[in-house]
Amino acid sequence: MLKYQSSIRCRRLTKIECKNKEKMKSLKKFAFVAMTALALASCGTTQKVPLTGRTHRISVSDEQVLSLSNQEYTKYMATAKKSTNATNTAMVKRVGQKLATAVETYLKNNGFANDVKNYSWEFNLVQDNSANAFCMPGGKIVVYEGLLPYTQNETCLAIVLGHEIAHAVAKHSAEQLTKQQNQQIGTNILGGVLNQTVGNGVGDVASAVAGQYFSFRNLKYSRDNETEADYMGLIFAAMAGYDPQQAIPFWQRMANGSSTNKSDIFSDHPSDAKRIAALQQEMPTALKYYEATKPKTTTSTAKKTTTTTKKTTTKKTTTKKNTRK
Ligand SMILES: [Zn+2]
Repeated sequence: MLKYQSSIRCRRLTKIECKNKEKMKSLKKFAFVAMTALALASCGTTQKVPLTGRTHRISVSDEQVLSLSNQEYTKYMATAKKSTNATNTAMVKRVGQKLATAVETYLKNNGFANDVKNYSWEFNLVQDNSANAFCMPGGKIVVYEGLLPYTQNETCLAIVLGHEIAHAVAKHSAEQLTKQQNQQIGTNILGGVLNQTVGNGVGDVASAVAGQYFSFRNLKYSRDNETEADYMGLIFAAMAGYDPQQAIPFWQRMANGSSTNKSDIFSDHPSDAKRIAALQQEMPTALKYYEATKPKTTTSTAKKTTTTTKKTTTKKTTTKKNTRK
């Protein structure tokens, strides 16, 4: 009898031990998955954005991004209707190429040549009434015909193209992909682990919370990306010899039309007033790059020319041209 009771106790203990073992297994699994998540989230390379010097972590390779974007771009262009306006199409290609050349020269001279070594710039004008433009990673830029009434001239078109080129050069798409990848890992881990340890249903809530949390951060960073693209685009246009001061009236025109045109250019961006204020603050730097594209004038004389009359400006410029030669 005693022997029998002791055998039952023993079986009971074994069951408890089994439960403990299961718990330990679950905890070990949790720790393993969490460690994997951390490892995946922290891997990648730290890269520096040209011009701004901002550093960001990218966990997707150029090859991966370009492969995905090229597929998407090919699909898009297969269905998009190219503009039949030969003059405007030529203008988009000409201004775009001028910018791309200036940007690549800058990148080469400043140790960023590798950043765009796999890029292949393309500038297309398509039939669409939206005031919009976009850039795919790798330098595939598309302008909608509806944007041209706002740009009105080549200089303002250069401001938009500069902004789009900036998104490509700063690898904003890869940055967003990296964030989404990390967000996906976080969501899956939280959801999966809670489902295992607490029960079905709770994980879905956790996933939603995790999703919202990351969406908020992404939204914030997207705004930063837009602000960064504004700045870099302004400088790129100036580097290519386009007057950056034209950016102010252009963005004002776009702001006035923003209620009817909800374009990519406006998405996740700070208010129009903030955008214009930022551009005005950046203008002295942009003007330095712009003046540098004029071979016969210097920034030191530029200040004088703005305060003197047009007549004296012409005279002074001519004098300087002679003295420099
Ligand atoms: Zn943008």
